[in-house]
Amino acid sequence: MTLGRRTFLGAGAAAAATAVALGQLRQRPANAQFGFGRGPVVNLYSSRHYDTDDQLYDGFREATGIRVNVVEAEADQLIERIKSEGQNSPADVLMTVDAGRLWRAQQEGMFQAVSSAVLNGAVPENLRDPDGLWFGLTKRARVLMYNKAAVNPTELSTYEALVDPQWRGRILTRSSTNVYTQSLVGAMIATDGAANTEEWAKGLVANFARAPEGGDIDQIKAAAAGQGDVAIANTYYLARLIKSDKPEDQAVAAAIGVFFPNQSDRGTHINISGAGVVSTAPNAAAATEFLEYLVSPEAQRIFANSNNEYPVVEGVAVDSVVASFGEFKADSLSAAVIGRNNPEALRITDRAGWK
Ligand code: FE
Repeated sequence: MTLGRRTFLGAGAAAAATAVALGQLRQRPANAQFGFGRGPVVNLYSSRHYDTDDQLYDGFREATGIRVNVVEAEADQLIERIKSEGQNSPADVLMTVDAGRLWRAQQEGMFQAVSSAVLNGAVPENLRDPDGLWFGLTKRARVLMYNKAAVNPTELSTYEALVDPQWRGRILTRSSTNVYTQSLVGAMIATDGAANTEEWAKGLVANFARAPEGGDIDQIKAAAAGQGDVAIANTYYLARLIKSDKPEDQAVAAAIGVFFPNQSDRGTHINISGAGVVSTAPNAAAATEFLEYLVSPEAQRIFANSNNEYPVVEGVAVDSVVASFGEFKADSLSAAVIGRNNPEALRITDRAGWK
């Protein structure tokens, strides 16, 4: 079953040109040039918010002749959309930027099991669902980024130690409505237990420099500006600032140091961006092929170089700016466990007053 672009977007087709203005739903302009209804397609629902992903879709088309139609929105909206589309959903692949959302989609019965020697061989066991419902495609390290003028890195050690009174009024982090926050807390539940994690969350809230606001870049900028001293953020955001041609971005990056926490115990918290084949996928074979392409050395290099993420595939080099942050021990905790702990993480951050 091949769906034309117009069919694919349904009632939203007329609004496609203004989709950006409407909010999160938009079809990539790069896909429009291929027209619609021509040749095999895979329909991708993606909550990745990185323009550079177009390179992946173009690479897949060049390698296989299969066109990628993309609907972009927040993960929760995509999950709701697939649910409401039901058996008629055109969605073949659901891609998210976080283990918690993959887990939620899995709970909704949204994925079908994929048995692929290519995927099982390429993706480490802790970064994929044991039953093949979803697969990690990239890794992200959530690290401590400190203002070099205010913090000596020897003062830093673990996520747990950020509740020390010495950090009162100095910690910058995102809201608990953000999935990156939820997965960090979910990982801490797995390691430290729920009760200790709740105590930790309360202690961290007491040390906040300000009520959580903005994305990772905003935390980094606030640390550089001295609104706080230690920001919790994913490394690729700092790499983006370092590579920016705006002098103000470079100035922010120059003020910031990277610290990988928990190096003497479990390792730094790792989250994944990942994807699964939708249970009602009209193009399931093409969907599996697309996932297999995404773990190819070529695609893994695109992930690494364009959005500065860590490849999941062993032996693919990280970007040179990312490499300059240094090697580190990554927590090997299962992404499935992080996902499963998501509801508990939400309850804990709520009770701790983590906005
Ligand atoms: Fe991100």
